[in-house]
Amino acid sequence: MAYSCRTYELHCNECGRSFGNQPLSACDVCLAPLEVHYDLEAIRPHVSRASIAAGPFNIWRYKALLPLPDGFEPDLPVGFTPLVRASSLGRRIGAEKLYIKNDAVCFPTLSFKDRVVSVALANAQAFGFTTVGCSSTGNLANAVAAQAARLGLKATILVPADLEPAKILNTLVYGARLVRVEGNYDHVNRLCTQIAEEYRWGLVNVNLRPYYAEGSKTVGYEIAEQLGWRLPDNIVCPMAGGSLIRKIRKAFKELIALGLVEEKPVRFFGAQATGCSPIAQSVKQGLDYIEPQRPNTIARSLAIGNPADGPAASKMIQDTGGYAEDVSDLEVVSGIQELAETEGIFTETAGGVTTAVTARLYAHGRITRDQVTVSVITGNGLKTTDALAGSYPTEQSIRPRLADFTAYIQQLEQVSEPELATVGAY
Ligand SMILES: *Cc1c(COP(=O)(O)O)cnc(C)c1O
Ligand SMILES: [Zn+2]
Repeated sequence: MAYSCRTYELHCNECGRSFGNQPLSACDVCLAPLEVHYDLEAIRPHVSRASIAAGPFNIWRYKALLPLPDGFEPDLPVGFTPLVRASSLGRRIGAEKLYIKNDAVCFPTLSFKDRVVSVALANAQAFGFTTVGCSSTGNLANAVAAQAARLGLKATILVPADLEPAKILNTLVYGARLVRVEGNYDHVNRLCTQIAEEYRWGLVNVNLRPYYAEGSKTVGYEIAEQLGWRLPDNIVCPMAGGSLIRKIRKAFKELIALGLVEEKPVRFFGAQATGCSPIAQSVKQGLDYIEPQRPNTIARSLAIGNPADGPAASKMIQDTGGYAEDVSDLEVVSGIQELAETEGIFTETAGGVTTAVTARLYAHGRITRDQVTVSVITGNGLKTTDALAGSYPTEQSIRPRLADFTAYIQQLEQVSEPELATVGAY
């Protein structure tokens, strides 16, 4: 079921052996993860800033840099989300050149997982799979269910049993088969690995993982293009499996190699919730391995205790001179509120993690105020409203009379303003 393609194929990161193109995620010799390797020399004549600018306003403008089977005709306008100058948040946390990459509004299912799934399913079809699936902490489930529906593929999706209700509903509505598994994500993922051996299914983050992961590079391409074909000084990025943060770096390196941006050092900063922070702990202790954890945090989309790309992510962050931080669940909620109150962007718990970590990195002087910094917001707040339960009083109602309204407003103004959340103060 393999296919061949001129410009890319799977390579083992450890021993360098090549595997062509097939649904396979690890080297059978050294068990290291496989990654898509490109013949950049063959690609170079076909890409320029102008050719990309002439493309559609979605991730397919970078088609030449993605592992897409010959003849693949993309028609789902995924990605190309806004890069927003965050002046208001910046004033609060002491940042002058802070940007938000806003994948809270990614099309079609409101998280950056739409990007990875579109690349994975293009390959699933080329390999001839008619059933696809994944193990998921929520957003991936939504993205696979939606895109499988559109492509007429059957979808079977496995999630931890205690997932947020909105993420469950956002999977079922597309007609996907949902399997709730007792245990945490790591149990679900282990089961999926066994399923991939037993069933002829394309599991996007298991046997299709190398292709899936490449979709994350588009976040990096977009950031560079939206900054006017320049690289930022710093990236702050949430980490679950540790894939996205690495692929943004890979995107920048490819752009440099192809002469599309000027070379410059970019530091990478990882963000996790303290209740599941194996990669952040590894970075903080300067290790090249991960101590797996048992997740316990409201940031469920980041709750992977034994991250597949954790060791590589930790090493990459340290190599770039970056750092990683982790924040408490209380700070996650403050981070959600702070981004909403300053920039009008409602993100999910993962974005609360990233915002709180960004504030702390400035507060601790790891990022200085004049550096160009992009904080990557990866998911939408409407999916995790339960994280804010109890944060706001349910308002009483008034009669439709001006006198009642005036009395009510006066009463509100007498009540002292609740103290504003200031995540930078932690
Ligand atoms: C999956 C996910 C991440 C992390 O992705 P990895 O590539 O596994 O590190 C971050 N944010 C959100 C909202 C996600 O769903
Ligand atoms: Zn190998």
